[in-house]
Amino acid sequence: MHEPAKPARTCGTCTLCCKAVGVHALAKPAGVWCPHCDRRGGGCAIYGDRPGECRTFSCAWLDGLLPEDRDRPDRLKVVLFEDSSESASERIIVFVEAHAGAVNGNARAQFLLRRFLDQGCTVVVRNADYVERHRAGEIPLRDRIAADDPMRVRPQSRSPEAHRKHLELLVQRAAKPPGTA
Ligand code: SF4
Ligand code: SF4
Repeated sequence: MHEPAKPARTCGTCTLCCKAVGVHALAKPAGVWCPHCDRRGGGCAIYGDRPGECRTFSCAWLDGLLPEDRDRPDRLKVVLFEDSSESASERIIVFVEAHAGAVNGNARAQFLLRRFLDQGCTVVVRNADYVERHRAGEIPLRDRIAADDPMRVRPQSRSPEAHRKHLELLVQRAAKPPGTA
């Protein structure tokens, strides 16, 4: 059986990963606009010399993993990408919020989150608090997704009810800094 064809896409006017995602080579934390990004539509001002991390990065929308044009990150306000740095046996999809509540207050983002879990992926939500701590230097630039990351939810080994409860907790945590009631 053939896989459904992935839509051919280009970034267009979206530049959100140049803010949401950290770039180690530029010492640019997550959540800060890259100084080389022309937000008036000019794109990357150092395109020919941009770091390897930027050359190899593509988000889940560009990769055709999200079905609709409204899922483009600048429209969704969340950058989703597949983290392939850790384990070949586990597909990890990372959601990075562009602003506080971008996952919790967004029915479409929650739909996509559940969809990836239903597909057997592990989902990690990098909420606005995480991004702020990354920006403040409390989290190293080369952040790894730890096995006990509190914002990580695996679909395996859970009853549907436990799965649903964990997902609700995850969505609540995405809306609140850790430690708040
Ligand atoms: S977030 Fe995705 S669509 Fe937007 S600029 Fe980055 S790779 Fe392109
Ligand atoms: S160097 Fe270019 S591609 Fe990389 S984050 Fe900056 S503006 Fe974006």
